[in-house]
Amino acid sequence: MTGREGTRRWVRIRGEARYADDGSVEKMVGTVQDLTERHEMEERLRASEERFRGLFEEAALGIALLGPDGTIVEANPELASMLGASPEALRGHSFSALAHPEDQGQHQDLFNALIRGERERYEVEKRFVRHDNTAFWGRVTVSSHKGPGRPEAIGMVEDISGQRAYERQLRDAKQEAEEASRLKSALLANMSHEIRTPLTSIIGFTGVLEDHLTGTNARYARLAHQGGKRLMDTLDSVLQLSKLEAGVTTPDTERVDLVAQARETCMLFRSQAEDAQIDLRFDPAVDALPGRWASTAVQRVLSNLLSNALKFTPAGGTVTVRIDRAGDVATMVVEDTGVGISEEDRSRIFEAFTQESEGLQREHEGSGLGLAIVRRLVDLIGGQIDLESTKGEGTCFTVRLPIDA
Ligand code: ADP
Repeated sequence: MTGREGTRRWVRIRGEARYADDGSVEKMVGTVQDLTERHEMEERLRASEERFRGLFEEAALGIALLGPDGTIVEANPELASMLGASPEALRGHSFSALAHPEDQGQHQDLFNALIRGERERYEVEKRFVRHDNTAFWGRVTVSSHKGPGRPEAIGMVEDISGQRAYERQLRDAKQEAEEASRLKSALLANMSHEIRTPLTSIIGFTGVLEDHLTGTNARYARLAHQGGKRLMDTLDSVLQLSKLEAGVTTPDTERVDLVAQARETCMLFRSQAEDAQIDLRFDPAVDALPGRWASTAVQRVLSNLLSNALKFTPAGGTVTVRIDRAGDVATMVVEDTGVGISEEDRSRIFEAFTQESEGLQREHEGSGLGLAIVRRLVDLIGGQIDLESTKGEGTCFTVRLPIDA
């Protein structure tokens, strides 16, 4: 029926005849009842029910509506497919009996408490057995769903077998890594003793031989002596890096002047620079920078950066060390006019055993550990290291250190 302003109305029309005593129709009484509101409410209810049914049917989560004794009143297709059964076959089945025999009955207390209204929901993880007797891990959330004409609880099951397997892999991998790390520490501790002792003798005696021999023999002794020293350096670096990685190193701080300390370190490289015909400059922007510094670590950082700068700068080049301060931060810069580092390598040279020229193309000797140690030392003392470089023009490392005055 069309109402005012052209709206559609649902109505119930009743016509009734009233009879006179002689049986003739005296009058007709008609009633019209407007049912629009009721009709619309029913429509809305139907639409809402359809929406929820769609959700139940299409959900990628296993859902079961449960009665007060834990019987499945209705199961959605996802739960059925997880278990390899049909939704109809699950109806009337005990929800807890779907679990693996070893996991059955474990959570009955929780379910009972939910039914008694003592809790709103609970979440557990347990194994379920499929129709073909294979098992999978499920995360089960059971929540209370009381109400007139409604079942008592809703059980939701999420298959977490993949996640469980991943967690197990992670646990295994962690165990393996810990075992490998333990072996590495044992190996390094042993290596330190077993290699260092004979190596010290080799270095000492080849030094003596070099002094007493002449000509080719003296050259051989010198090569053996230099080789021994290089090996010792590498051993020291490996040990230091492994200690830094294991987090067992704590930097000792002492009150020193950073400028004076950097000057001293530069002095140690003076003769090496002269031999390589490189102009080594120390150019501090401040006279002194006193404070509490992790001086051994800072010295090691500067030595490694300086040794690289001298190694990768050809004769005639310049290496400059600058010290400055900006507020609470000290900057230590090592700049060279050497071969530079390509953009591609700049991001990875701080990794252990990484060198720009690797394998047979290696032009410079070195273990590729120096910068890995530098990065970890700088991290350890709360500093920061940055690198700018242009291939063929030079490299500039800037270390920023917090000043502890
Ligand atoms: P290495 O013992 O090989 O010097 P480092 O970790 O100290 O190991 O350096 C890694 C690599 O980074 C070097 O092999 C070199 O390729 C590059 N590199 C480091 N410092 C410089 C520099 N000042 N100029 C050019 N290349 C550098």
